[in-house]
Amino acid sequence: MQKLIKGLHQFQSEYFQRRKDFFEQLAHGQKPETLFITCSDSRINPNLLTQTAPGELFILRNAGNLVPEGPGASGEEATIEYAVSALEVRNIILCGHSHCGAMKALLNPGDTEGLPAVRGWLQHAAKTRRIIEENYGHLSPQERLIATTEENVLVQLEQLRALPSVAAAIRERRVRIHGWVYKIESGEVFAYDPEEGQFLPLLAGAAPGASRPPPGALVDTI
Ligand SMILES: [Zn+2]
Repeated sequence: MQKLIKGLHQFQSEYFQRRKDFFEQLAHGQKPETLFITCSDSRINPNLLTQTAPGELFILRNAGNLVPEGPGASGEEATIEYAVSALEVRNIILCGHSHCGAMKALLNPGDTEGLPAVRGWLQHAAKTRRIIEENYGHLSPQERLIATTEENVLVQLEQLRALPSVAAAIRERRVRIHGWVYKIESGEVFAYDPEEGQFLPLLAGAAPGASRPPPGALVDTI
């Protein structure tokens, strides 16, 4: 805790002081262009990863970056609806990550022994588990975890697109949907390319001279 208090002091006395005008501007309102949905894992920092400032990302985090299915009073749906319908974000990024504890628990139900709330929450990824059981039995545990992380991003995108607010925004072409996987150990981001049917390094497609747009930009066409 001491470290956090020291950090807060440093933020107020140094960082904030140098950017007073910027923070005063922020008090007038927010207009983020992107809703960033990711895992609660402490090793992910969406603003650091995308080099964005306060006010630029509307962030939704939970264990496993899940989007509960169907209409209901979930905090996730309320947050997404507010971002899409009130803030009118133009992009939604759903970002899974390597070494995800929630994905490991999905593969090994024993991991959630004594964690009934976690086990219940992971039901929102039941479809991911089914896909893995039916198609990826031949993979090594490590490969299966990667496949689970990627398949889960696709399953959650499907559940995201089914939410009424998101469905309407897609119909009206107000929002673009992107599926990402962040690799903690290398800093790389892989984006789902629906044409290739796989996750590809995001920056490879955006390199100077590339003839096609970055793969993540195409995911809303699937
Ligand atoms: Zn995670």
